[in-house]
Amino acid sequence: MAFESLSDRLSKAMRKISGQGKLTEKNMNDMLKEVRMSLLEADVNYDVVKNFVADVKEKALGQEVMESLNPSQMVVKIVHDEVQTLLGEEDAQIHFKKQGMTTIMMVGLQGTGKTTASAKIAKYCKEKLKKRVLLVACDVVRPAAIEQLQTLGKEIDVEVFSLGANVNAVQTARQALDYANDRQKDLVIFDTAGRLHIDEALMQELSDMKALVQPDEILLTVDAMTGQDIVTVAKDFNEQLSITGLVVTKLDGDARGGGLLSVRSITQVPVLFVSNGEKVDDLEAFHPDRMADRILG
Ligand code: GDP
Repeated sequence: MAFESLSDRLSKAMRKISGQGKLTEKNMNDMLKEVRMSLLEADVNYDVVKNFVADVKEKALGQEVMESLNPSQMVVKIVHDEVQTLLGEEDAQIHFKKQGMTTIMMVGLQGTGKTTASAKIAKYCKEKLKKRVLLVACDVVRPAAIEQLQTLGKEIDVEVFSLGANVNAVQTARQALDYANDRQKDLVIFDTAGRLHIDEALMQELSDMKALVQPDEILLTVDAMTGQDIVTVAKDFNEQLSITGLVVTKLDGDARGGGLLSVRSITQVPVLFVSNGEKVDDLEAFHPDRMADRILG
């Protein structure tokens, strides 16, 4: 399970101090050392770890804590709160237009789960938020991406717009917008092309689409199994496209957690959804507090 090792180690570090009647600077430092090591081993970004430990230390060594009735419990809470701050202060949501049609561009490297996530988000918005959704197949590069989206669309009973693989993505997007307007859709989700690596052609195509669609959200899918690479990819996409949110996929695997824990504080972009399986229902809105509970056991 994802985060298993990190979660084990952090809870052990916490137990170390909560078992102590009195909190001394020595056992606090031992605990912080353990926290630092467990975060680094979970592949959390070095600067993020450094700041995290410094913040916990500063708060924990404050007079209020040291003189309180149960200092160790307060320190455990401080660690919990800091993990939650890393993951995001509050639940982030899709920004729907107050009136008219909302548009989302899904972007990401090939294989991260972008096409599947497009369908999962469509299902989520249709069922939970009662939106009239149109999916648009703009990944005309990866063979079979269009058929994949059409199959998923049938499964979740959401219409899929496509002009086939011979019409370019921008042109497809333009016609899709007219189509969706005519049919008074509330939400249009564009599945775009990915590449194995970020390259200029990909970014140019996405920028052109962005200029045309002027999306309300640009959501980047990142694979939790790729660890700190999430941060690099998110930074690059953010610089070029100003992404508005992240979908972290494959949390059902045994990801160590470093990417998810680092990405928010490095990019300042919130995680909106996490995906934990291949099926269309395997998507959850992201709750930083619940994830912090899960990580800290
Ligand atoms: P794309 O190239 O980014 O559009 O990626 P796809 O949506 O085609 O997904 C690539 C592969 O990852 C497919 O086999 C998906 O079933 C699988 N996949 C996507 N999301 C998840 C997930 O959350 N967990 C698991 N285990 N597999 C996933």
